[in-house]
Amino acid sequence: MRYAILSDVHGNLEALRAVLADAVPRTDGVLCLGDSVGYGADPGACVELLDARARAIVAGNHEHGVAGLLDLDWFNRWARAAAEWTRERLHDDQRAWLGALPLTKDVEDATLVHASPEAPDEWEYLVTPEEGWAAFSHFATRWCFVGHSHVPGAWSLGSSGPDFEPRPRVVTAEAGRRYIVNVGSVGQPRDRDPRAAYGVWDVEAGRVELRRVTYDVQAARDKIVAAGLPRFLADRLATGT
Ligand code: ZN
Repeated sequence: MRYAILSDVHGNLEALRAVLADAVPRTDGVLCLGDSVGYGADPGACVELLDARARAIVAGNHEHGVAGLLDLDWFNRWARAAAEWTRERLHDDQRAWLGALPLTKDVEDATLVHASPEAPDEWEYLVTPEEGWAAFSHFATRWCFVGHSHVPGAWSLGSSGPDFEPRPRVVTAEAGRRYIVNVGSVGQPRDRDPRAAYGVWDVEAGRVELRRVTYDVQAARDKIVAAGLPRFLADRLATGT
C-alpha cells in the first residue's frame, strides 16, 4: 500500500491538481494533514477535491479558524484576512465539513496530525530537532506525519539515539526506530523552493519519499490578486517563503 500524504494545500488548486496528477501513478490512496484552506483563492474547489479523493483528513488551524472553532486573533494579519475571506466564500455545508474533521487519525501504523501530537489543538510548531524529539512520547504508532510549518523534515528516535534530517528526500525506516515526518506544503512551500511538496509513503517498504512538483505558480498568484487577497500571499508563492 502506498499513500500520497498531502498537507497545507491552502486553497491552491493549481498546486493540488499538479500533486494529485504526480501521485496517481505512484500511490493507492491519499491522506491529508489539514490546512486545506486559507491563503489561496480556491478554498471551495480544494475542499471538494480533497473530500472526494482523500481516505483520511485531519483538521488544521485554518479549518478551525474558518469553522469558528479558533479565534481569528490567534492568526497574523495575512492569515486573518485570508480566513475571513475564505469563511465568506465557503458554503455552510463546507464550513460544517471543515469543523467536523478530527484532530488526529491513525492509518496503518501512522498517526496523522496537523501540528504536534502532544496537544493537537494548541497548534505548536515542530521545527527544531528538540521540538520533534519531545513529541515522540505523545503517539504510539511507528510513524507520525505532520505539516503546519510548511518545511519538510524528519525526526527519529531509537536505541541508537535521536536523529533529525532537514529537507530529506527519502526516509527509510530502520529496525527499532520511530519517525516523525513533515511532508512540507502543497500550496504554500516555505523552504525557498516554490515547487509543491508532498510525501509518498510505502507502508510495506517502510519508506517515505518527499517529492517536489512544479505547477502553474503564476496562475495561482493571479487568482489571489484578482480575489483582493493580500498581495503578499501571491508574491510568497513565487519565492517559496
Ligand atoms: Zn498551513
